Amino acid sequence: MTPEYEVTYLGSRPCADGIGTFRFSRPSEYSFTPGQFFSLSLETEDGLVSKFFSHADAPGDPAIELTTRLSGSAFKNKLLALSVGDVVRISGPKGRLGVPEGSTAVGFLAGGVGITPAHSIIRNVMQTGSPLKVALFYGNRDEACVPYGEEFRGYAASNPRFLYVDTLDHPGPDWAGESGFISAEMIRRHLSDPGALHWIVAGPPPMVEAMKRVVSDLELSPERVSYELFAGYDTNG
Ligand SMILES: Cc1cc2nc3c(=O)[nH]c(=O)nc-3n(C[C@H](O)[C@H](O)[C@H](O)COP(=O)(O)OP(=O)(O)OC[C@H]3O[C@@H](n4cnc5c(N)ncnc54)[C@H](O)[C@@H]3O)c2cc1C
Repeated sequence: MTPEYEVTYLGSRPCADGIGTFRFSRPSEYSFTPGQFFSLSLETEDGLVSKFFSHADAPGDPAIELTTRLSGSAFKNKLLALSVGDVVRISGPKGRLGVPEGSTAVGFLAGGVGITPAHSIIRNVMQTGSPLKVALFYGNRDEACVPYGEEFRGYAASNPRFLYVDTLDHPGPDWAGESGFISAEMIRRHLSDPGALHWIVAGPPPMVEAMKRVVSDLELSPERVSYELFAGYDTNG
């Protein structure tokens, strides 16, 4: 059985577009590999509810972190109402998503809150000085909220092994990055051989469905792609 832990709520960081990042103490005996997830249980107005969240933090970080869409559900309302110092329960780690052993290059196709496992893996690569080559294709609505966008820009400026391609659906007039949805054509413009990477796709069902079409257009072999579906989001994401 997956172990359970009591953790302390440490605070949150809001983003626009109804997205927020929430931090909890990490028990000293808790360990995970980047890409794994945990379940968080909260006493809500609908009773005790547990939901899964991918670790957005890396193992080298001092706290557990999740990033989520504040949908207005009873669970998310309770998350927003937590006070620093409140004690809640998590259970984990769970899941097998991660960089397959022996990979030398990994690519991510991510959008919005689906960035969490990519953030954990990329942050770990940067913290440990891993020689892994990483490409991140990251789509968001507009500049108002690009979770972890500043951090990724910093990595791209200092690490030649990290390719960062951010694209917006509704770019402002000063936007210098890509615009529109992630596509095979966009990926081919930035990478000469996409088939040489192992790809990781994570997020709410609509994002994953859209990225499956991109994977098909790129003609990647199925064993070159890992998926993590954020089941629980409705079909509108
Ligand atoms: C392996 C795994 C990893 C995951 N990782 C993450 C992660 O990193 N981040 C993350 O955010 N989620 C993640 N999820 C999904 C997460 O567990 C929740 O299912 C998701 O966040 C939706 O929960 P909710 O309480 O917002 O919606 P629910 O209450 O479960 O409702 C489903 C949908 O209805 C809508 N909805 C519900 N109540 C209302 C309301 N009152 N008003 C308007 N709309 C409403 C919401 O938009 C939501 O999309 C993961 C799931 C899995 C399986």
